[in-house]
Amino acid sequence: MDKNYDHKKYEKDIYRKWEESGAFTPKIVKNKKPFTIILPPPNASGGMHTGNVLMIAIEDILIRWHRMKGDPTLWLPGTDHAGTETQITYERELKKEGKSRFQFDRKTLYKNIQEFVFKNKHFIEDQIRAMGASVDWTRYKFTLDEDVLETVRETFEKLHNEGLVYRDNYMVNYCPVCGTTYADIEVSHEEKNDPLYFMKYGSFTIATVRPESKFRDTALAVNPKDKRFKEWIGKTLEIPGLLGPIMMTVIPDPEVDPKFGTGIMKVTPAHDPHDFELGKKFNLPVLPIIDLDGRMDFSWFLNQENIDSKYRTRAEKYHKKKVREARKLMVEDLKEDGLLIKVDDAYSHPVPVCKAGHEIEPTVLPNWFIKVESLKKPALEAVKSGQIKIYPKWREITYIRWMESMHDWAISRQNVWGIRLPVWYSLEKNPTLQLTYLKTDGQRVLRSGQGVLSSKELDEARDGLQQLSAPIGSEYVISQTSPGSDYLQETDTFDTWFSSGQWPLVTLGYPDSNDFKYFYPTDVMETAWEILSKWVSRMIMFGIYLTGKVPFKDVYLHGIVRALDGRKMSKSLGNVINPEEYIEQYGVDALRIGLVSGTANGKDFNFPKDRVIAFRNFANKVWNIARFVNSVQGLASSVQTENEDDRLILNDLNKLIKDVDRLLEKFRFAEAGEKIYEFVWHKFADVYIEKYKNSKTQNFQTLNHVLVTSLKLLHPFMPFVTEAIWQEMKFDGQLITASWPIINDQK
Ligand SMILES: [Zn+2]
Repeated sequence: MDKNYDHKKYEKDIYRKWEESGAFTPKIVKNKKPFTIILPPPNASGGMHTGNVLMIAIEDILIRWHRMKGDPTLWLPGTDHAGTETQITYERELKKEGKSRFQFDRKTLYKNIQEFVFKNKHFIEDQIRAMGASVDWTRYKFTLDEDVLETVRETFEKLHNEGLVYRDNYMVNYCPVCGTTYADIEVSHEEKNDPLYFMKYGSFTIATVRPESKFRDTALAVNPKDKRFKEWIGKTLEIPGLLGPIMMTVIPDPEVDPKFGTGIMKVTPAHDPHDFELGKKFNLPVLPIIDLDGRMDFSWFLNQENIDSKYRTRAEKYHKKKVREARKLMVEDLKEDGLLIKVDDAYSHPVPVCKAGHEIEPTVLPNWFIKVESLKKPALEAVKSGQIKIYPKWREITYIRWMESMHDWAISRQNVWGIRLPVWYSLEKNPTLQLTYLKTDGQRVLRSGQGVLSSKELDEARDGLQQLSAPIGSEYVISQTSPGSDYLQETDTFDTWFSSGQWPLVTLGYPDSNDFKYFYPTDVMETAWEILSKWVSRMIMFGIYLTGKVPFKDVYLHGIVRALDGRKMSKSLGNVINPEEYIEQYGVDALRIGLVSGTANGKDFNFPKDRVIAFRNFANKVWNIARFVNSVQGLASSVQTENEDDRLILNDLNKLIKDVDRLLEKFRFAEAGEKIYEFVWHKFADVYIEKYKNSKTQNFQTLNHVLVTSLKLLHPFMPFVTEAIWQEMKFDGQLITASWPIINDQK
């Protein structure tokens, strides 16, 4: 054995041997209870981050522990197509070439993104291997594998047949730049400075940052307790404006803050989530003024007859301008009409932004929804009754609150990179469909269903289709394949969480494969606490809905790894830690157990660099213990009587086995690792071995037994160095499949 443990010499080789020996693939033994974890799939075209390493380290501890205990153990790997994220990344690549997604029909764009992902997929797969993850590669799944798509589409059909799917106009978080809607939980808020305009509104003054939406205001809201406006409630007023007068009713809204601005708010149901709800309550019309490209749309006005020429000129000036550009023009005109009272330039307010940082434009769009009431009840009950346990326990309340307040779920996204809804529209039957497509000459056109048929462009529309928007009430057919020659498929794709919510099912070949029958329900779902609401909740809902059984028994939520400076890692802060640099320098084992030991009770924690270094030193310590044992092997005397030191160390070893089992049962990984570290370094090496060196009644059998048992206990935490020692010492077989230590009561 070399003087020091050189991780670079062993890691790749050992992993290859494990994989080739079939150690990762469990044998289905009918009367034996299996142990199963499904790996939360990382982004197929992304790279490993420290959070992934922590996840793999924790899951691998559980997996290796159970495998050594003799359970048929399955850890199923996969990668995620990561719809929105990947499409944004790909579009950034396109931009570098001076192109945009609008130059491609959706079929071609999908194919191109697929190529991009497949070209990059091996990076993450190689990284999973480099982490030492003992996953069963023979069962590898990608979220867009054909059998996954089939199951996801069938689930949609089942939900639809049972009346749990509907279409509705809905206020969505729409990003005009990304061209898609985002779920509430995907939207973050940034504090921004925008001028606050005080405008004359008939006999009132209102304050707003969005004067451009005023043309489609349908009411004025006041706090019912505000004495100043009490007498106006219920009255309809004629308000002069930039394009002539508008009729508006004053309505009561307890959420209006009498102290904000002037205490009177304009209500725009088409472009504000709160106003949308208010509009439903008071039956206000929903009148959009911003189109899907984020431009002002004044067609509703310009299509009228006999418009005052001054107003027509204005409307034409604003029409199809980007919102902020149009706002400037309007403010000029407000000044000209004497309607602008003052501007507060120091006004700061939270603005919703999408994943890519663009401003969200709240917009009303037809969307697909799932009624969640009947799905969430059993999912909530499963946790409340303890059928599913959440670790750490204090995270449970997040789940319960989320489930209790969950609204119907908008499952459609206007993305290309995803699973397309199996919904088909006949152009004959739906003349008002809106289709955007590229003609054979490359021209991008927007036509109605009727327009496509009368211009005989059905084939062009089908081949060049970019987006289809079907008004509420459109007739449709649900089918896995095209139901007829004049049918076009919905261009919306499923929300990522809709398909990944079925991950434990689709990975195991639901509904009737042998794997599914044997390994489902799985045992542990281990993931970052951040996606408890987004993902874990949906898996529980779908698991119970489709199989009547919970998808897993335990949920373990790990904390988020922050940067060395204690802040969230981010590219812009330049504090992102690349795990590969640490692996290169200190070895995978040190990084894995270092991260695991840094997290206590699932809380967020700073990247524990000192722990990583400490465990690199520990790897060397264990290596040197083994070298010592190796060196005295031949010298062992034939007299093998147990002395007091032997009894002490064996007693401590028994206690350690008991502790490690107990702590792992309770997902207390850091403490388990710490116990092994303490025992090996401070009891075995510092005390026992030191005494052994000077003892006349050395008992080699004990020395060897403690080493072997320590290696076994440490293996799930530091798989490479322990296996390397095992091989160097020529112990039987591979450590990965050796048997887990049991307490020897005789000693
Ligand atoms: Zn965006």
